[in-house]
Amino acid sequence: MPESRLTTNDQLRRIAIIGGGTAGWMAAAALSRILGQETVAITLVESEEIGTIGVGEATIPPIQAFNNLLGIDEDEFVRETKGTFKLGIEFLDWWRLGHRYFHPFGVYGIDFGPVPFEGLWHRLRLEGGAEPLDRYSICATAAAAGRFMRPQTGGNTPLSHIGYAYHFDAGLYAGFLRRQAEAAGVSRREGRVVEVCLDGEQGLIEAVRLADDSRIEADLFIDCSGFRGLLIAEALGAGFEDWGQWLPNDRAVAVPSANVGPPTPFTRSSARAAGWQWRIPLQHRTGNGYVYSSRHVSDDEAAATLLSHLDGEALAEPRLLRFQTGRRAAFWVKNCVALGLASGFMEPLESTSIHLVQAGIARLLEMLPTRRFEPADIRRYNRLMTAEFESIRDFLILHFHATERDDTAYWRELGAMSVPEALQERMRIYAATGRIFREADDLFTKTSWLAVMEGQGLRAQSYDPLASAMPLDEARARLARIATATAAAVPHMPTHADFIVRNCAAAVASP
Ligand SMILES: Cc1cc2nc3c(=O)[nH]c(=O)nc-3n(C[C@H](O)[C@H](O)[C@H](O)COP(=O)(O)OP(=O)(O)OC[C@H]3O[C@@H](n4cnc5c(N)ncnc54)[C@H](O)[C@@H]3O)c2cc1C
Repeated sequence: MPESRLTTNDQLRRIAIIGGGTAGWMAAAALSRILGQETVAITLVESEEIGTIGVGEATIPPIQAFNNLLGIDEDEFVRETKGTFKLGIEFLDWWRLGHRYFHPFGVYGIDFGPVPFEGLWHRLRLEGGAEPLDRYSICATAAAAGRFMRPQTGGNTPLSHIGYAYHFDAGLYAGFLRRQAEAAGVSRREGRVVEVCLDGEQGLIEAVRLADDSRIEADLFIDCSGFRGLLIAEALGAGFEDWGQWLPNDRAVAVPSANVGPPTPFTRSSARAAGWQWRIPLQHRTGNGYVYSSRHVSDDEAAATLLSHLDGEALAEPRLLRFQTGRRAAFWVKNCVALGLASGFMEPLESTSIHLVQAGIARLLEMLPTRRFEPADIRRYNRLMTAEFESIRDFLILHFHATERDDTAYWRELGAMSVPEALQERMRIYAATGRIFREADDLFTKTSWLAVMEGQGLRAQSYDPLASAMPLDEARARLARIATATAAAVPHMPTHADFIVRNCAAAVASP
């Protein structure tokens, strides 16, 4: 039987977003911008009484595409969120105590036709003539010098390879997006959802009922209600796949501190006895947090460790956050799509959560349903989002597993655990040949994998056979030229602090 034809009657008319944290307002801003209010009415429900998680201050470069989609002026955005720029992450004490490495954005060197940069680098590392990886990265070199600028377009200079993201105040970011979304016609409803009403026939969500007894009906519901997944889990029963066996951190204690010195253009991640500590510089304060495993350290001890490792004076009492690592068994069920913490959570080591919200929104737009909610669309969305979550999960596990630290039970357990097959395979290929293969939808590039594999102490025994195609002397000369050009380019960049003062300093730099 041919399917009955789609009519305008089948088109979405009302979308309800439940939750007004970062995920809810990102969804509201993007959907209203793309869909307009002519055809679809968008309502966002949030509860001030419940509040938001209020953390999530470091990002990765794809957020620029999201801002472009919204037509956001970057200087205004950084000013309004009291933000700074991020060229990558500095990892301290991860491989061994006292060791430092940098995971830069952008790229290492350049590929020479089919001969990948890392193939030549591994060859020189084994046969003589390789410099440390950082010297081939404009982001790593600039970060070490405290410098920042946007990439120069055109020209054969390392300055055209600058990759960057932002640090910002999570509360100000949600407020910024809210203004965008409301200006585009999103209507906000204050109130607590007390019931999710399903239709008896197909089990679709018909409406949510608020504490004041009003009902909000919609065709499509976006669950941005945070960890509990009010719609996707509590009403529609989507299960949870727990990844605690690989990523055992389940708590964080966070505290802002006073700035000391100019802001660094990078996030710092310092490994601790039972987890790791973040340091995120903003214009008006520094964000800090210790992410840890509650099986290995008490909350009091974690808070004491955090407070004893601040650059400046603490500006508030430490705040405890509990979380579970894993993903929803399905991200899209019937007429409900979960975004943000409602869809799952992986700890913030590589600042990937806000990106996953963005990826979910992009895919939802790509597969924007009609009111028929085609099962094939839903399956595809769930398959692609699962792959995205899993590839990030494996990248995170690499940091914890590939380590020589054995000074605490926490690190000994992580070093000894058995990791997912796909990651084992990547590590085996790297150890044998230094090669890194990127699967179609992998978020992290080969630069990221190379930085972390090397930084965590993996050493390739050989190199890509394609690297033999270039005479050794030529390979040495080419890589030397890249390192020289990179070092020469950095002094042309302003300091990070100067760049902010000149372009996007916040009006009132108060905490
Ligand atoms: C320790 C930690 C550090 C993090 N750091 C980073 C980072 O550096 N980078 C990054 O990308 N991400 C980070 N994240 C993740 C990031 O904070 C979240 O992905 C992001 O804030 C999105 O949260 P959310 O909007 O899904 O949930 P929430 O902020 O929890 O918002 C939930 C919303 O739902 C509403 N709500 C809930 N129940 C109801 C109800 N019954 N009725 C009405 N409204 C309701 C609430 O009021 C709120 O508005 C971090 C997370 C943690 C835990």
